[in-house]
Amino acid sequence: MSMERFSPKLILLLVLIPLACASSIHPPPEAGTYSERRAEMVQRQLAARDIDNRDVLQAMGEVPRHRFVPANVQRYAYTDSPLPIGLGQTISQPYIVALMTQLADPKPEERALEVGTGSGYQAAVLSKLVQKVFSIEIIEELAETASTSLRETGCLNVTVRHGDGYAGWEEEAPFDIIMVTAAAPVVPQPLIDQLADGGRLVLPVGPVGGVQELILIRKQKGKIREEKIIPVRFVPMTGKVRE
Ligand code: SAM
Repeated sequence: MSMERFSPKLILLLVLIPLACASSIHPPPEAGTYSERRAEMVQRQLAARDIDNRDVLQAMGEVPRHRFVPANVQRYAYTDSPLPIGLGQTISQPYIVALMTQLADPKPEERALEVGTGSGYQAAVLSKLVQKVFSIEIIEELAETASTSLRETGCLNVTVRHGDGYAGWEEEAPFDIIMVTAAAPVVPQPLIDQLADGGRLVLPVGPVGGVQELILIRKQKGKIREEKIIPVRFVPMTGKVRE
């Protein structure tokens, strides 16, 4: 049965939630070169759904996702699922990365902050679309691995810092885009404060282990507008937000 017959929300409930933070995965290995698989991923998983921002599709087609995952899962890099990256963390499903990027509506002159560097993949995608990316990761080992992957793949406009992203990155604020890739129980106030006028904040909000909502927040003339996008399931944001 074709997936296109279902409403987008139903597809997401059926497909994304069970897969979102899988710790054990058994997708079939794929055929073709990495660049062929990547082109197929863009068509089948993104363009065939609701990713229609050409720049986002192009960036997703350019970033070598297999270079951001551990060797033992590299052959699954272009499957329609998240993957384990070690230390209990995941790289998000390609569709979720593309959706969050599209919601952030990046422009070439803009500056972005990501909270939850993980593998560095989302930062790499953003790096193709904005002038500068700042990314914070609470697990030092992941911050180091991600920095290396970003440098080795030529994403030189990304700066990674080890720390708790709850407080944002005060010295570099304000940001046109803030993206949080771990689920917070509430929206951290410092991130709202560090959003530029006209800025967009994309983040999952909700309980640990339960269904969370992907939220898009826009700041316009000091006013905050919040929009619920879809139900998702992310690993929890840790650190100060839990105190
Ligand atoms: N964006 C990542 C990528 O492209 O691979 C995926 C991120 S993974 C789903 C969430 C990440 O958020 C984990 O690496 C986790 O350690 C990190 N994290 C959780 N709480 C954090 C916090 N308070 N500050 C910074 N990073 C945090």
